[in-house]
Amino acid sequence: MKVADIFSSAKATGAQPISFEMFPPKGELTLEHAREVAEQFQDLHPDFVSVTYSAGGSGNSGATAKIASMLTHDFDITSVAHLTCISLTHDELQRKIDEMRQAGVENVLALRGDLPQGTNAADAARAEYPYAKDLIPTLVDAGFCVGAAAYPEGHITCENLELSVEHLKQKQDAGASFFVTQLFFDNECFFRFREMADRAGITVPITAGIMPFMSKQQISRMVFMCGASLPSPVIKLLAKYEDNPDALREAGIEYACRQLEGLRDADADGLHIYTMNRPSVARAAIEALRK
Ligand code: FAD
Repeated sequence: MKVADIFSSAKATGAQPISFEMFPPKGELTLEHAREVAEQFQDLHPDFVSVTYSAGGSGNSGATAKIASMLTHDFDITSVAHLTCISLTHDELQRKIDEMRQAGVENVLALRGDLPQGTNAADAARAEYPYAKDLIPTLVDAGFCVGAAAYPEGHITCENLELSVEHLKQKQDAGASFFVTQLFFDNECFFRFREMADRAGITVPITAGIMPFMSKQQISRMVFMCGASLPSPVIKLLAKYEDNPDALREAGIEYACRQLEGLRDADADGLHIYTMNRPSVARAAIEALRK
């Protein structure tokens, strides 16, 4: 099923699609491990599950389409295959499109990807697909339902939020029919961003992405990677449970559940949970939302 259709029918009934993100595990047991995760997701009836993509290096780029296919064909879960374009040539993109078609993929999250190590913005501008907006039309023409990434606090390398929203509009104009946001810890950031997106003419659904924090190391990695701001309740929890990793993990899941409830009550178009391949995280979120 096309994700755009899921959002349209949800809108008609006032429902909010709930989705999960999973990543292809690295190593030899890729599909087996993914299958175990998918099996547990199936019981939770998500509206769709998106599968991340890792270009080159230690990444497992071929696994994304396989796992998306397995989710849909073996577990009857609508899936979205992520695809990054910064290192793709036109020929490679055609091969990726063929691979995804053969796997029966219907939905793609079109991304630029982070710049390869040792390259800068000038190198990136010379790439065959420098930005996600350049990838989207080819995928739409190939018949995929295409989504893209949105940044409630602005993309980390973008000068300001206004410009980031302009870039978002370019992705909608290029054919994106839904957006999934970067994680954020402060719902107010999402609400402000949603107002700006409305004013900029963004009309496609924006689903809010939430990742529970699991440890101090994970949260600092996230903050440095994506520039998410840490509101004081999160900082206080990090301080309170500094010496108790189990309690911190529980507090992180609890905090994410409260965030999701707040977004549900504020009529976010959809709720997307960064599960980190942990069905227990997905289950806690679903239980909080369906209470
Ligand atoms: P773009 O929208 O192309 O933006 C990239 C940068 O260029 C931004 O700073 C933007 O403001 C700027 N920009 C855009 N258009 C223009 C323009 N016309 N002129 C000048 N500047 C412009 N990464 C992975 O490797 N694999 C994944 O599976 C993956 N999944 C993700 C899922 C979600 C929901 C999100 C939010 C991110 C994901 N990422 C993933 C990370 C993503 O690849 C990085 O954030 C990357 O740096 C930007 O990708 P983008 O598609 O948002 O890029």
